[in-house]
Amino acid sequence: MTDDWGLATARFALDAILAVVLSPACAACEQPLEQPTRGPVCPRCWTSIPPLTPPICDQCGDPLPTWRAISLPLARCPRCRRTSRFVDRARAVGSYDGALRAIVHALKYEGRRSLARPLARLMRQRGGDLLDGAACAVPVPLHPSRRRQRGFNQAADLSRRLPLPTVPALRRIRATATQTGLPAARRHRNVRDAFAVTAAGRTLPGAVVVLVDDVSTTGATLEACARALKEAGVREVRALTAARVVGFDD
Ligand SMILES: [Zn+2]
Ligand SMILES: [Zn+2]
Repeated sequence: MTDDWGLATARFALDAILAVVLSPACAACEQPLEQPTRGPVCPRCWTSIPPLTPPICDQCGDPLPTWRAISLPLARCPRCRRTSRFVDRARAVGSYDGALRAIVHALKYEGRRSLARPLARLMRQRGGDLLDGAACAVPVPLHPSRRRQRGFNQAADLSRRLPLPTVPALRRIRATATQTGLPAARRHRNVRDAFAVTAAGRTLPGAVVVLVDDVSTTGATLEACARALKEAGVREVRALTAARVVGFDD
């Protein structure tokens, strides 16, 4: 009889007790959790998150119409070919819908911080090549007042679960109006100059860094962060987010 066996039995018993006594519900689908010790989201919800299927734009990570990828080694969407960007490459676990949206909400607004670990694992699985050769992960910062209000920064929680050192290279120097409900152009104006590099951020000239956030909507926040980093001498900025709003009219 091994310790593993004992542990598995104890977990089985604990799951049975918790499931009956507390009957906690999955934070995403709200069905009763059969194995509450495995975390607040059920296995069905985790496996139901569809990846953004190729072909995708090599730069921003948005899905492309299939015909566009034919014989293009570096396929880029019309938007990325039209505008120059500070973020060199962006990837996400999936579209900001369904279970993934519910999981991000539970992490961010319900304080279910234990979700950061499995979510970061998915980020690594689906966007892992972004981490190759990178020096560090840089979480998108919250304004100190927002950070106090929420008690934690979900981007930093995700960043710390990635296999790179987390460097708090940025700070928010301006409280911005919430981006929700703003059209794309206004979002870009709203966050421009909202970020500055910290003392740690000034130690990264020539580096490749990975910006980390929970959701990318228009990419305005990531662009503003990337711009501040590049002005401080960072060579390449990649962006890895848990979710991405696909096809936002930008
Ligand atoms: Zn579920
Ligand atoms: Zn693109």
